[in-house]
Amino acid sequence: MELGDFRRRLDAWLDEHDGALAPPYEGAGTLDEQMAQLQKVKRLAYDAGWMRWGWAERVGGLGGSALLRAYLGEALTARELIEPGLFSMTEVLAPTMIDYANPALAAEMVPRLLRGDETWCQGFSEPGTGSNLASLACRAVRRDGGWRVTGQKVWTSLAQYAQRCVLLTRTGTLESAHRGITALFVDMDTPGITVRPIETMHGVEEFSEVFFDDVAVPEHRMLGAEGAGWSVAMDLLPYERSTALWHRAAYLHLRLQQLVDAAPPGAVDPATLGEVTQLLYAFRARSRATQHRLATGAHLGAETSIDKVLMASAEQAVFELAADALPGAVAVADDPRSVRWRRDYLFSRAATIYGGTAEIQRNIIARRLLDLGDDR
Ligand SMILES: Cc1cc2nc3c(=O)[nH]c(=O)nc-3n(C[C@H](O)[C@H](O)[C@H](O)COP(=O)(O)OP(=O)(O)OC[C@H]3O[C@@H](n4cnc5c(N)ncnc54)[C@H](O)[C@@H]3O)c2cc1C
Repeated sequence: MELGDFRRRLDAWLDEHDGALAPPYEGAGTLDEQMAQLQKVKRLAYDAGWMRWGWAERVGGLGGSALLRAYLGEALTARELIEPGLFSMTEVLAPTMIDYANPALAAEMVPRLLRGDETWCQGFSEPGTGSNLASLACRAVRRDGGWRVTGQKVWTSLAQYAQRCVLLTRTGTLESAHRGITALFVDMDTPGITVRPIETMHGVEEFSEVFFDDVAVPEHRMLGAEGAGWSVAMDLLPYERSTALWHRAAYLHLRLQQLVDAAPPGAVDPATLGEVTQLLYAFRARSRATQHRLATGAHLGAETSIDKVLMASAEQAVFELAADALPGAVAVADDPRSVRWRRDYLFSRAATIYGGTAEIQRNIIARRLLDLGDDR
């Protein structure tokens, strides 16, 4: 299906099913409510075909351009039917499964994620390992024709809801750094896994610590080859900065408009609003180009770090403007709308951390794109 046709037909379907798709809560809702809402919307959209467009037929998709997925997430976000950060896990993890899982496993699992029957999480970071991912220590050893995993992950988004985890493990020596890492696709109900949610400063248990104690993972759950986990990670990270960021842009656009509508007369400084709008449109223009490159089959890489830097700058600018224009709402008020402004403002501080920090993105841009020094 062509994008124009897809837009018209999807918009008509969304209008028609507005009542069934709408969230049953006002404001942001709790994380439990948001997750239930996400599952409902994905299920309805999958069963009507919309969640299947833009995905390969061999994983239950209906084919077509990745632009269709970009528009679907944009439309669902603009209508406030989903929270784009939660929706983004599909855009990040499904492509990795398609690229690296054995075909039978991908065909079995990906439709469950697309339909919202399952939630997946991404187990990369550890207590001593964030930016320096190549130093990860969560160990997997071969035993009984499969793997046994022991170690700890941290900041694992939505782990307490997840049925599966894309997990990076150390299978070589620690000195082997990025060469000794293997990616596994792990069932979260396997004996030996303990999940402890962590509350963020915006008051949501967004991520968790995850402990692995001699956890059995079958051989066929390896993603890519043994020792090739670094490639899995490096190919996954650009997906955090492509379609998912287009959806984030739609969210920021929506919230900026809502801010202008909600602010008392004179509360928004026009010059600051101009600067924020400029930042947001620069980010959207860059992300639009990335969507089109992805749709032509381009392999995304280090250049998506520019999208991430622009996104974080735009996100923080939008919600700093909200803090200036709606100080009571962001600081103290407890009605659902104010709670949402406060959450968005506090969560915007994380935009320069998750998916690779702003400093690391700038290192990548300087070293790999501008050739301004040695890459480590
Ligand atoms: C909301 C949220 C959700 C997340 N979800 C997940 C998830 O689902 N799965 C997952 O695996 N992880 C997740 N993370 C973790 C995230 O990937 C890490 O926080 C991030 O990679 C940074 O690692 P760190 O926290 O260990 O900080 P560190 O790497 O310790 O960095 C600390 C500071 O030092 C700076 N720094 C570090 N190295 C350099 C350098 N070489 N040059 C310049 N500055 C440097 C950093 O920029 C940062 O300012 C999430 C984080 C957040 C905030």
